[in-house]
Amino acid sequence: MASGTYWTIRTAAATALAVSAGCATSLDSGTGDGATPAPGASRASKAPSGAGDRAAGPSGPPGATPRPGEVGRFPRPGDGLPPVISSIPTERKVVFLTIDDGWEQDPGFVAQVRDRRIPVAAFVTRDAVEARGTADPTAQGGRFLGAGKWRYVRDLRDAGATIENHTLTHPNLPMLGYEGQKTEICGVSRLIRRHTGTAPTLFRPPFGNHNTLTRRAAKACGIDALLLWTATVQPGGKIAYQVPDKKLRPGDILLLHFRPNLARDFRILVAKIKRRGFEIGNLDAYLKAAAR
Ligand SMILES: [Zn+2]
Repeated sequence: MASGTYWTIRTAAATALAVSAGCATSLDSGTGDGATPAPGASRASKAPSGAGDRAAGPSGPPGATPRPGEVGRFPRPGDGLPPVISSIPTERKVVFLTIDDGWEQDPGFVAQVRDRRIPVAAFVTRDAVEARGTADPTAQGGRFLGAGKWRYVRDLRDAGATIENHTLTHPNLPMLGYEGQKTEICGVSRLIRRHTGTAPTLFRPPFGNHNTLTRRAAKACGIDALLLWTATVQPGGKIAYQVPDKKLRPGDILLLHFRPNLARDFRILVAKIKRRGFEIGNLDAYLKAAAR
């Protein structure tokens, strides 16, 4: 599958599945050349009558969608394998929210995503979602540890989040060979497809560690890009920057974890981002624009 067309294809699948999430219009509007109506245009389309039998009222986060000509292109790797993306090439004050693992399944977080229409991409690990084995330290013994399992992931999807791939068991992938990496990546893609109806297109390697075999395995599992991050969000909504001047930058990708007090921390984080004059972008729409 040509990667340049990929996001369009995924959007079509997501549209069929997420009608009630209200995100289809905004994603579709970003198709192709980036000639995107203002975000208000897609907001006006929320909660079409009769479309929502899954959630009551308006739902699904469009977030900021790219303006015409706004987004640069990703460099295409010469090896034909999925690119590794750490930030989105834009000058606009927009950042992107991603959340990893899936241990702490706080319903208050789902409600914020839905009700405040905040786009997030959730990178889920099977062992975290299913609360198998020993909890990762990022779970911090939370109150909702594995509370809803895959039902929680579906709730998040219904709220408008995209559900992406973060392996079965959260290994350090470069320690594994090709087949081992493929088992980890394809395994959770199959599970996500089974439980949500849509296979992921983005992959986040645990700890950010990857090698060429990772990209080969990801491609074999239908993954279009590896998505890293530029800053992490700590408990209390504190942003830990990977740059010395400690500022948000246009196109930054922020990494959160499903951990205790997520709903509270998320509220603090979103307020902080807005106070600094940034919008929260719709990752799918921006990726599609950058990959064209
Ligand atoms: Zn992780």
